[in-house]
Amino acid sequence: MDSTKTWEKMYINGNWLNASNKEMINVVNPESQEVMTAIPRGQKQDVAHAVTAAKKVFESESWQSLKPSQRGRALNEIAAKLRENKSELAKIETSDTGKPLAQSESDVENSARYFEYYAGMADKMFGETIPVEPGILDYTIREPIGVSAQIIPWNYPLQIASRSIAAAIATGNTVVVKPAEDASLSILALGRLIAENETLKSALQIVTGYGHEAGDALINHPDIDHITFTGSYNTGVKVMMAAAKQIVPVTLELGGKSPHIVFEDSDLDEAAQVIVRSFIQNAGQTCSAGSRLIVHHTVKEQLLTKLVKLTESISIGPGSDNNDLGPIISKKQFDRIQAMVEQAKLEGAHVITGGRPAEIIHSRGLYYLPTILNRISPKSEIAQEEVFGPVLTVFDFETESEAVDLANGTDYGLVTGIWTNDISRAHRVSNKVKSGQVFINNYGAAGGVEMPFGGYKKSGIGREKGVEALQNYTQLKNIAVKVT
Ligand code: NAD
Repeated sequence: MDSTKTWEKMYINGNWLNASNKEMINVVNPESQEVMTAIPRGQKQDVAHAVTAAKKVFESESWQSLKPSQRGRALNEIAAKLRENKSELAKIETSDTGKPLAQSESDVENSARYFEYYAGMADKMFGETIPVEPGILDYTIREPIGVSAQIIPWNYPLQIASRSIAAAIATGNTVVVKPAEDASLSILALGRLIAENETLKSALQIVTGYGHEAGDALINHPDIDHITFTGSYNTGVKVMMAAAKQIVPVTLELGGKSPHIVFEDSDLDEAAQVIVRSFIQNAGQTCSAGSRLIVHHTVKEQLLTKLVKLTESISIGPGSDNNDLGPIISKKQFDRIQAMVEQAKLEGAHVITGGRPAEIIHSRGLYYLPTILNRISPKSEIAQEEVFGPVLTVFDFETESEAVDLANGTDYGLVTGIWTNDISRAHRVSNKVKSGQVFINNYGAAGGVEMPFGGYKKSGIGREKGVEALQNYTQLKNIAVKVT
């Protein structure tokens, strides 16, 4: 090991620890391809240590006797700390994921918003009184579930961890987080902020490591009471099977293949701007990327001309220089993008722009040109599966029902963008698309901390974000009292 570098530790039972077998995983900076640091390769016994600690804290008198308002105040303190440390946290996120610095800053702000949003909800988890019959007082209370196990992906590590940690703690749970092996640093930095907070320092445990080791041990641990997972469909299946064996509730957010449906009466200039942003954001490594364009045949050429012009004018290069499009996070992800685009070409896809890696002088990162592909079968892999790269596939339609069929024609159902100035059509189509969120004449709306987010079909189960997410972290108890 290089003695000039600082190696990370994980946060278990209030201590910063190495893995029990002392093994580490190198952390590579996507723009320099250099090893920056290393994280502990957490093992089954480390996970057991963390879950036992989380359970003990959850059952402790000191945790159970905290007022909801005290948890809320402490979460607000974390929001303030995140904002105070925005610049440093953004640099950490960019160095670990490759994303543009401005986007990392906005991710930190969104993370702070999750903490303050759920801070405000901590003392508003109301129950109901239910009329049963005279002489019976019936009421419900919402109780925390217990130990929330959270498996976080690498694309928006700080934001996604913040949304589930804040919601779980606001409702009185304790948390064990397993960040992705490719991007753990910002979550460890968040851990350092929480470790300094007297009220919350024992409520969080962070175990770093590989999915098939630490992740697998966490989802299969008998003392967890809930699992939240964001990531791929295949891993989501494993998570759900583990949850099924123990009958614990599970929240799954498994990505999408989200369409923009563009009608002939829409504002094409505005649609073009937003569509480009939505498929290149985070170099396309976004679950809600607007990666399919379904456009009315009469405006297709006009829109494509605008999209190509915008796409070819974006800056590509290191995220630390704040380019629009940074490097792909890992060689594994880069190879996946390349393989999917090459396969599409073999199947006859027409490359309108991009379609190959980008060479960036003075950067050793792996970059992929923003790519627009036409003449694709809606049944092909590239039309059906997440690329998780800056790739847009194009389809055209004549009738509204054809557009809806194309939009609904994948196994996913996360987000849909609808572009039209016909208000009746906008609502008609919104009702027919099978997706958890619909945006009309916009896409993404300011980060969406307040809006329930999750998928139809194989995009997942349950909703994150907004007040709705709090259902995941609580269970309902009904109490009937005989009043004599
Ligand atoms: P992944 O689903 O394997 O990884 C996500 C998280 O799950 C990581 O923390 C990982 O360590 C953990 N994990 C992996 N195997 C596990 C297991 N057996 N038990 C418990 N946890 C486990 O995703 P990936 O392989 O890094 O990426 C592959 C594809 O997944 C991407 O190309 C993309 O299409 C999709 N993806 C989607 C999202 C999203 O936001 N929905 C995020 C990341 C990846």
